[in-house]
Amino acid sequence: MGAEPNEDHRRRELSFRLRTLERALLDIGPQVRWARSARFLWNLIRVSIGGVSAQLRSVDPADVEYEDTVSNIETVTDVLHALLGYVEEGQPERVPQAIVSALEDLVRPIAPKSRVLVCYDWTPSNYGYLEAFREELNAVVRTSVRHDAVDPKSQEAVNVVPDMFAIVFLPAAEQDSVLLHAALAHEIGHGICEVAAIDPPTVMPDGVVGELMEAEDGELLGVLSDFYVRSQAWKRELVADALSVCLLGPAPFMSLYRLAPNAEPSETHPDSNLRFQLMSVCLKKLCFLNEDNVPPDLSWLPDTVTRAVEGSQSAVENWPDQVFRLAHTHLEHNVERIAETAIAFGMEKSCAFGRDGWDADYAQDADAPRHQLVRRILHAVPPDTVERVTDKGMRQDQAARLPAILNAGWAVYADPKRWLQFCQIFEDGPVQHEFESRRKLQNLVLKAIDTVNVKREWGATA
Ligand SMILES: [Zn+2]
Repeated sequence: MGAEPNEDHRRRELSFRLRTLERALLDIGPQVRWARSARFLWNLIRVSIGGVSAQLRSVDPADVEYEDTVSNIETVTDVLHALLGYVEEGQPERVPQAIVSALEDLVRPIAPKSRVLVCYDWTPSNYGYLEAFREELNAVVRTSVRHDAVDPKSQEAVNVVPDMFAIVFLPAAEQDSVLLHAALAHEIGHGICEVAAIDPPTVMPDGVVGELMEAEDGELLGVLSDFYVRSQAWKRELVADALSVCLLGPAPFMSLYRLAPNAEPSETHPDSNLRFQLMSVCLKKLCFLNEDNVPPDLSWLPDTVTRAVEGSQSAVENWPDQVFRLAHTHLEHNVERIAETAIAFGMEKSCAFGRDGWDADYAQDADAPRHQLVRRILHAVPPDTVERVTDKGMRQDQAARLPAILNAGWAVYADPKRWLQFCQIFEDGPVQHEFESRRKLQNLVLKAIDTVNVKREWGATA
């Protein structure tokens, strides 16, 4: 009995925290109305607050499970608090929602109930993915279901728990750089990897095995485990890169090239060179780099890929960190295998976007939609519509898809000739306001993604 006042204090504090959380949640309610994923998370938090509050009220200090139950509520409250933070950061007026919905639709063949929440990252200028979020989400759901299972609202939230929920970040400083947002496909690739557990088998080159075995007796285990951890982390990044190319074609490669043309390796990420090598293999496998058959609007691509790979080469043998060196050599030896596994997965799930028509929508002429969209951009028209000829020879307008829109944007921006042409639409003389033209291009692309998104939502409800 002596412990009771303390326990009551603990309960009161928890209950106060939950009430505060609920108030903060209600405050941002109106802002999440138009953002599917933020709204989903908002609802889930609301239901969970109800669930754990009820549980807190009913728990009996005399119960043997009291301690565990209260600790669990504390943990879930912490998670809910963090989740609310993401909902706040993922507010629709700050983040371009249309691209989020378009990306969700893109991964639907893999994870039919996919949800993506895009948040701003205010510190680094990097795109990012929140690891291990799925477990936290599940912990929340488990708690609210177990103790509030009869509440239909709770059941509703549980039924819509996504098979993939990716919280991804985009750099606040690049808010309007919609072409760079192709990099979000890499982050979503991490989500796909988690759901589908894609882990391509790799083969160790002899040199790496030899060097690992040369480690001093007492150090072998440490070196091996460092090497394994590093290789696995880097491989996850490469798989996400491969999936990003599957989903969006050359666009994510271009984003990475602009963002990190020559990044050094780190504990978590391989050097840019390894990533470009992998993406180059993927682009080749998806037929974007066929030397004798490059479509005119992508004529700049093969050279750009070569430049990216060659410009990021570094004397790996001189890297001071042995584990980095071995991980690079090991994975470089396996880029083909990694690309193959990821692309085979994409094809199996019908979400690979390749030039030779793996995407059923583009089966007749894989390049046609992009060609048309490039032409629209060069007339300062948003690239949102593709004209198709039906089986009966009728011409029909169709909403363009995200990969074609983004790649058309890059096809204008990355090709010096086309870029000049685009800049000249707005200028009489030589290009003086590159910044202004870039802004106009981004606006056209964003407008297209927006329009297509609206059309799709209408189509879905009609
Ligand atoms: Zn990554």
